Amino acid sequence: MDKKIILKYALLNAAQYDGKANVQAVLGKILREKPELKKKIKDMIPDIQKIVKDVNSWSKEKQKSEIKKIGISLERKVEERRELPDLPNAKMGKVITAFPPEPSKYPHIGHAKAALINYLYAKKYKGKFIVRFEDTNPELSKKEFYYALINGLKWLGIKWDKLDYVSDHIEKYYKSTERLIKENKAYVCVCKQNEIKKNRRLMEECKCRKNSLNENLELWTKMLTAFKEGEASVRIKISMEHKNAAMRDPTIMRIIDYPHPRIKKKYRVWPMYDFATALMDSWGGITHRIRSKEFEMRTELQQFIQKSLGLKSPYITEIARFNLKGVTSSGRQIREMIKNKELFGWDDPRLTTLIALKRRGFNPEGIKEFLVSTGVSKSEATLTWDVLESFNRSVIDPKCNRYFCVFNPVKIKIKDSPKVNKVRIHLHPDFPRRGYREIPVNINKIFISKDDFKKFKGKKVRLIGLFNVKLDKKAEFISKEIVMKMPKIQWVSEKNIPVSIVMNDGSIKKGITESETKKLKVNDRIQFVRFGFCRLDKVKPDLVFYFTHK
Ligand SMILES: [Zn+2]
Repeated sequence: MDKKIILKYALLNAAQYDGKANVQAVLGKILREKPELKKKIKDMIPDIQKIVKDVNSWSKEKQKSEIKKIGISLERKVEERRELPDLPNAKMGKVITAFPPEPSKYPHIGHAKAALINYLYAKKYKGKFIVRFEDTNPELSKKEFYYALINGLKWLGIKWDKLDYVSDHIEKYYKSTERLIKENKAYVCVCKQNEIKKNRRLMEECKCRKNSLNENLELWTKMLTAFKEGEASVRIKISMEHKNAAMRDPTIMRIIDYPHPRIKKKYRVWPMYDFATALMDSWGGITHRIRSKEFEMRTELQQFIQKSLGLKSPYITEIARFNLKGVTSSGRQIREMIKNKELFGWDDPRLTTLIALKRRGFNPEGIKEFLVSTGVSKSEATLTWDVLESFNRSVIDPKCNRYFCVFNPVKIKIKDSPKVNKVRIHLHPDFPRRGYREIPVNINKIFISKDDFKKFKGKKVRLIGLFNVKLDKKAEFISKEIVMKMPKIQWVSEKNIPVSIVMNDGSIKKGITESETKKLKVNDRIQFVRFGFCRLDKVKPDLVFYFTHK
């Protein structure tokens, strides 16, 4: 038996509980890391007892220095535990990365990954990380979404060195557009949208491409003042025969007559996505961009734009598109489903938006560990809820106290039982120091879940924390001692309170729980034994939980 692992957990446990480790808690931790040791519990106990005793006799300073010596960190911070692969041409202190969301929807787990990876790279190279709102479509940008993005990133513990808004730089876009026009690198096109589309498909030039400089400048002025939406746009001159369709004279500036959530009606001509992002990258001195593969076809165009204006291009690396299997992340689709009442809202438990995960009780550390584990490769992997949940489980399990909840309750009486008025059960078996909860008992009114009743009727079961019975409506008392391999079921007694649990498929499950859950506060996360983790969402008029996962 490796004594190092005992020492590690004894020290960590001591650090968590005011310098005093506990044998049971240390044992629990060891078994979680090495379940194969379960068979050797008996041999391990004396060693654990001895080491825990030693550690507890040390001063806190000595405990701290021992922790340092074996090189473990107290906080399981994802940033320090997993190293990202090196970035090319990255110089310590010089790296600037960015996360540029459009404030048009609530951020989901894919946004979180893009933000986290760029943030972690900036941190790795002691550089800077910029959050930049690409808010150049006033019809889609909404105040609500700016806040949602900021709150989502804050919740994940992602910090930025600068918060920028493309809408603060519009004058500079006008200057750059004028320059491109003057250098004959762009022209104003007055063709209709469907004509432009058709020409692009047929690889044909339109007559506007041959505008003189004066014609272009005049049309450009008219765009800023007189033209109506859809009547004119500025296109960059590349080639209508380019094999990448994104390169066939794409539009870079267009008219949108709609009040902007930040700057109202100050402007009516707005840069298109590629023009906006390419220039902001250069102006902001972004050295590295790590972004989702769906932008791959756009990189060529963005670099062309930068070159046309004599600007620097960041190093761009693409990573696989990211979401969980079977979950939509399309803002348009989600908006529609909310409208049709197929979803409760952006925080519907079926979604992978950050507010949905938060409401369900996911922990930001669990999410970040999961995201980093998925890596920065380009190849798509099918990611499922299971994987995210297992990362989250290992983070929240030690934090969540445990309670009983019974579904479709079946009332049983217990014959010939010794007198019991109440029982005390550990809030968390691995952390006995956390204390107990008390359950008042009336042996004539014990409730168990219908499923358990059906499954174990006529068999011997342990009512956890109470005693063993032969199960029936009139159950027989058998014994008090824990018997290995006897099925263990949760129960509640006369004093219980109704709860509703919003499940991850949107359904609502009703049950009754022990009365101590009344002490819980909104946002508390707990585990209902043999059911799963839940977050308390409401306390009035009744307790409403959100199901996190099993
Ligand atoms: Zn045209």
